[in-house]
Amino acid sequence: MGSVCGLKEELPLETREIGIINKKRSRESVLESSLNIAVIGAGIGGLAAALCLEKKGFKITIFEKSDLTGELGAGIQLSPNPLKILFNLGIEHSLRYHAFMPEFISIRDWEKGRLIMETPLNPESQQSYGYPYLHIHRADLINVMLGSIREKSLISLRTMSEVVEVNEMASKCIVTLKTGSKQSFDLVIGADGINSQVAFNLNSEVKPKYSGNVAWRALVPRSNLSDDLIHENASLWLGPRKHFVHYKVRKGDLVNCIGISESYGWRKESWIERADIEEFKVEFNGWDPRLRKLIESVDQTTVYKWALYRRPMIKKWHTDRQVLLGDSCHAILPFLAQGAALAIEDAAVLANCLSEEQDIKNAFSSYQRLRERRVSWVQFMSNANAHSFHCSEQLAPLRNFLLKRFSGPALDRLYRYEAMSQGLTP
Ligand SMILES: Cc1cc2nc3c(=O)[nH]c(=O)nc-3n(C[C@H](O)[C@H](O)[C@H](O)COP(=O)(O)OP(=O)(O)OC[C@H]3O[C@@H](n4cnc5c(N)ncnc54)[C@H](O)[C@@H]3O)c2cc1C
Repeated sequence: MGSVCGLKEELPLETREIGIINKKRSRESVLESSLNIAVIGAGIGGLAAALCLEKKGFKITIFEKSDLTGELGAGIQLSPNPLKILFNLGIEHSLRYHAFMPEFISIRDWEKGRLIMETPLNPESQQSYGYPYLHIHRADLINVMLGSIREKSLISLRTMSEVVEVNEMASKCIVTLKTGSKQSFDLVIGADGINSQVAFNLNSEVKPKYSGNVAWRALVPRSNLSDDLIHENASLWLGPRKHFVHYKVRKGDLVNCIGISESYGWRKESWIERADIEEFKVEFNGWDPRLRKLIESVDQTTVYKWALYRRPMIKKWHTDRQVLLGDSCHAILPFLAQGAALAIEDAAVLANCLSEEQDIKNAFSSYQRLRERRVSWVQFMSNANAHSFHCSEQLAPLRNFLLKRFSGPALDRLYRYEAMSQGLTP
């Protein structure tokens, strides 16, 4: 079987390597495992998987097709369930440094901004779950994780390395890059997102489906904002067939705005499709003047739009030597802010299962069994929000009542989940 060092020799010069071999090993790592693992994709799920597996002593090579310096998306909401995993990986200080800690999120009616309810976030989150609720720029999250990966001798990160084929054999998997270079691994983790090549290999009939929603996103620099305090905390605005979320990132220096609207015309799924600010304004014409003012204040260079797809959950998440995690096997709509959270939870549970089981296939089966119910439930809740957030004016009073009555217990169940103990022998 080839080694990480072997791959280094095979890779072309343009391939950049960030995590280099033989730096000081993490003190948290247990004894080094003999398994040599490929992770395909350096999104939030792939990076989390590499860090969780490294902590268990596995040797990891991450293949990422991009150079990771381009557009990395805007904001991300991190609830206590993924934060307990991330903090346990030793990146709490850096995450807190970059993030914004909101006191609450208010839910408002679209037209007059009437307050429907307020959900407290901090310090209540810390008090109830032992971890805060953070709003962070996605690039900051990725960079903090990359910073940690650079310090790990067991992890190598190969950017500009698109995987075009994974060939599974009885005793190994051969990963082929677009450049033609090949490398062998004991097992392969597909963390390659919603259009996963690995998922295609495993289960070609399950394809991402257009959800009927388009998302606009943009950033507003604090310096563009007037004294109007509507942006001071996080808000979710609900209207017929549309909703809008804004919250602060980068220690509060930027307001991240996401507007989602139902549309069946445009279907391009891309993080890097620039959009016209005028189009964004038209979408939310007639909404509360304070919200429109926020949209008018956005930095035009930060406006993007993309069509939202979901991936119905794949029946079989693994073969004998390949396994999926994150959006590659269960991309959900961003109506519950839990897609990345699920990917991080997957990573923690998969690492537990691989460290507990000698047999790879048994470990994969345990992982899927442990995660399936949780993921189905979160998918269900997110789909339910998709209907309720965009309901008609007639149904809005009922929706508001149900939100006030049931969102608390549902969020409690969501945030209490203990991924880090799943799959471990008591
Ligand atoms: C508008 C919006 C808002 C959201 N907000 C939140 C939120 O607040 N909280 C939350 O938890 N979630 C949120 N999500 C969901 C979250 O962004 C995703 O669920 C999460 O990023 C999925 O991570 P992933 O690692 O599985 O996939 P991805 O982030 O898609 O990463 C896949 C990686 O694999 C690489 N790749 C793909 N193919 C190959 C290949 N063949 N070879 C090598 N590399 C490859 C890609 O370049 C990419 O880097 C939101 C989503 C959207 C659309």
